[in-house]
Amino acid sequence: MTTADPYQREREEMVEFQIRARGIGNERVLAAMQKVPRHLFVPKTWERAAYEDRPLPIGEGQTISQPYIVAVMTEQLEIRPRDRVLEIGTGSGYQAAILAELAAKVISVERLPGVADRARENLARAGVTGVEIVVGDGTQGYPPEAPYDAIIVTAASPSIPKPLIDQLAEGGRLVAPVGPRDCQDLVKLVKREGRVETIPLGGVCFVPLIGQFGWQGEGSP
Ligand code: SAH
Repeated sequence: MTTADPYQREREEMVEFQIRARGIGNERVLAAMQKVPRHLFVPKTWERAAYEDRPLPIGEGQTISQPYIVAVMTEQLEIRPRDRVLEIGTGSGYQAAILAELAAKVISVERLPGVADRARENLARAGVTGVEIVVGDGTQGYPPEAPYDAIIVTAASPSIPKPLIDQLAEGGRLVAPVGPRDCQDLVKLVKREGRVETIPLGGVCFVPLIGQFGWQGEGSP
């Protein structure tokens, strides 16, 4: 990231027109989105579309989220520099890279081993450190490193997997898409004195979260 970056200008425009102009004001989040080279997280054939205002395919039927949605979810996590963050659904590794700019430690769980391998390569190419990728069923969370100050789920399930709520620290924030298979409501949970408050954030469309506390595998309801 120290050498000349041909996408610097496109990234500035992405931050200004897709993100800041739509109401994201958190300067740490904006700086992270300005810094992370999103074009290194999409397949080569999609590289020139990396800064467009939409999700893109990353292989195996999965997608990298639209930049604005990454920004909304990240801002709502209210990450502080010493926080430990859990992501479910590594995908390209882009969201994890943004989180790594803001937090002390990021654990990201991915179900598909091939997708996890590519994400590790993308993060290495982008020079991102501070992300640990674990292959497994993220609907069960990742107990060895719990509790987490923030949890982000980037695939959709009919309800929020209970293990994730259990692994949220006191004062912790969780952001996840919840609802039917195609499009869902983005919700934020905040754990205070053991009680969980739910805040709706609007409509989104995510790929399914497949696992014990999510949807069953391909083909089933
Ligand atoms: N955050 C990603 C986009 C996620 S796409 C990015 O920045 O690019 C959703 C990902 O969730 C897919 O890679 C999919 O394989 C993964 N996934 C689906 N069910 C999962 C589960 N139970 N545990 C972990 N990952 C899961």
